[in-house]
Amino acid sequence: MNIKQLVNDLDPVTIIEFKNYLIENLSELCRVKNSNSKIICNHRNKHIVCKHCNVKMNKNGKTPNGVQKYICKICKLTCSETTNTIVAHSHLSFDVWSNVIDNLLDGFSIRRIAEENNISIYTSFRLRHKVLLALKNFVKGIEIKGNAQSDEKYFHINLKGTKTENMPRHSKKRTSTKSPYRGISHHKVCAVSTIDEEDNLVLEIVGLGRCTTEMLESALGDKVSEANNFNTDSATAYRKFCKNHNIKLHAVPSGRHSNGDINISKINGIHSQLEIWLSKFRGVSIRHLQEYLDWFVFIFTMKKKFSLNKIKTESYNTIVLDNNYIKANDIVKLNIPISLDVAYAEYMNQS
Ligand SMILES: [Zn+2]
Repeated sequence: MNIKQLVNDLDPVTIIEFKNYLIENLSELCRVKNSNSKIICNHRNKHIVCKHCNVKMNKNGKTPNGVQKYICKICKLTCSETTNTIVAHSHLSFDVWSNVIDNLLDGFSIRRIAEENNISIYTSFRLRHKVLLALKNFVKGIEIKGNAQSDEKYFHINLKGTKTENMPRHSKKRTSTKSPYRGISHHKVCAVSTIDEEDNLVLEIVGLGRCTTEMLESALGDKVSEANNFNTDSATAYRKFCKNHNIKLHAVPSGRHSNGDINISKINGIHSQLEIWLSKFRGVSIRHLQEYLDWFVFIFTMKKKFSLNKIKTESYNTIVLDNNYIKANDIVKLNIPISLDVAYAEYMNQS
């Protein structure tokens, strides 16, 4: 719906009345139970299609809360406007959802989000993880184009939240929590990080230890068809990767940030921003680390793409209007993106 067009047709007196009506009733209008479904309905750019018969579904009345229902005339399958969206089965209205999304962009904790929005800690936890999983779809679509810089970011393995019986190593008292291995080893989680000149950013966990060509393929292989130049450190893994994808490689000697005009300062700057941002969460479990990286990429992209006053609504649109439905039970089933058996092999053999 084009708001400009809509208002242009009104006379000035009606516009002022309209404005006053909106101001007086804004919170009521945003709080109605079918507010999310109304937005989804207005922004839907394609018909709802039956997943069995692949035909357009017909409107079929409304739920008691005013949410549009649909039916397939062939197999009689029914669904509603919010089926397959992140707000399916949610009783929270638009104002809560958009506030939670806004709070997340500001990096609020689960507890603070619960307090700000008058919801339980459990609901806040679920909403946060639903939103973070939804960001995955958005982040998946990002491609690297033209000239790019690429580097790796290494993280310690954090097993926060893992039950003792599921721990791959014996918990034991140690004077130091540091890994016995210094530098890059199989005790470090490797994330490939790449940014292009248009600020398209990829941050993806690829495995344990030093980055290999296979790891680069898994993170970037399907995202670089329009990339021309890669500035990287001297990691040999890039040679084969760039050759595979017809990308010109410019390597900066190890230990340095530039080599004449060739530098990786932009991606190193991203690493510094990421470290500061992650430190707010006081340790992120390896199970959830990729979600946090996606979250960072999302915020970074939104800030580059939209002016401050549009970030909130654009973020809501991006997250809610896609098919991002996630079952609450699936949240805790996230897999750990690395093999703990490999990381802790030497501990597993002792006993
Ligand atoms: Zn059908």
